Amino acid sequence: MITIDALALAQALIRRPSVTPKDAGALDVLEAVLKELGFTTHRLPFGDVDNLYARLGDTAPHFCFAGHTDVVPVGDGWQQDPFAAEVKDGILYGRGAADMTSAIAAFVAALPGIGKPKGSISLLITGDEEGAAVNGTVKVLEWLKARGEKIDHCVVGEPTSVARTGDTLKIGRRGSINFKITVTGVQGHVGYPLKAKNPIPVLAEVVTQLASHKLDKGTEHFDPSTLAFTTMDVGNDTTNVIPGQARAAFNIRFNDKHTPESLTNWVSDRMTQIANQAGCEFTVTSQTSGVAFLTAPGKFTQLISDTVAKVIGESPFFSTSGGTSDARFIKDFCPVVELGLTGGTMHKADECVPVAEITALTGIYAALLKAYFAKPPI
Ligand SMILES: [Zn+2]
Repeated sequence: MITIDALALAQALIRRPSVTPKDAGALDVLEAVLKELGFTTHRLPFGDVDNLYARLGDTAPHFCFAGHTDVVPVGDGWQQDPFAAEVKDGILYGRGAADMTSAIAAFVAALPGIGKPKGSISLLITGDEEGAAVNGTVKVLEWLKARGEKIDHCVVGEPTSVARTGDTLKIGRRGSINFKITVTGVQGHVGYPLKAKNPIPVLAEVVTQLASHKLDKGTEHFDPSTLAFTTMDVGNDTTNVIPGQARAAFNIRFNDKHTPESLTNWVSDRMTQIANQAGCEFTVTSQTSGVAFLTAPGKFTQLISDTVAKVIGESPFFSTSGGTSDARFIKDFCPVVELGLTGGTMHKADECVPVAEITALTGIYAALLKAYFAKPPI
């Protein structure tokens, strides 16, 4: 039987400086190992992004592990070499060590123990998660759909854990939408304000009203939605001109009580009321980077929870907090949850993960695959 050392594989991946969207040979490393394990592999380049889809078996049920080999830029302040993958005092250092090269290595290391699955195991690995996320998971999922391949369940290996690996399972994510608003009045002389229409107090009123509004009280699985202003600009350097326009921008992180449409309508309604009263015009533009989703607790989440409890001695906390991940695309195809390493250092200088955590995650993934194919949660 082939054995794969999770640490050695994680190190080999970190040593490829795959700063998004560059691949730098990371997918080659992974593809070679998966081929050795009998997987049929497909390289799927879209635009400037390379992706890898590998599958073992051709029957249902089909369990997919999703992840990314790209990493965020190094940034400043490193004491360690970000691409040397050195282990010091039992801790593996390197960009991607936590987010999420080591989780991919842990999953691959769990595979030889499973043998030939009674169904299919696949890996959907993109090089475009930390960047635009346009030519990665989304395109691979479309490619799978066009081929008639159906995934039954998916685990994304993002670093979801908090204090120890396995303590937290993400069963959903909040959505995120960015707004830009502009209030247009009439420019004029500060000495003759009645001949102008100052947009600044109008924008200030909009900001106050939107920022103080409680969007909801949260749900059983989600915290309350939040709205945060990121800027408020007039850009007027003069002292004697009332400006014609004033702008602001804000972000809403929303739970499954809202949709991008409901939020856009709400913002427009509020602004119409305030701007109309003041006799000003306004524009609103928005860009959605992800909608909220929830994989409702059921057979699949129970299987994972029970398995994790058996391995680490405690059941994972079901969470929906944090930013967005590629699970936001996968949720349209099958139930998806996220389970990975502790993420305390992700995107930071001296990103690292204890080697023991990688070993623990390998054990969790191995037990999960065994449990999944012993009694598929369908
Ligand atoms: Zn990640």
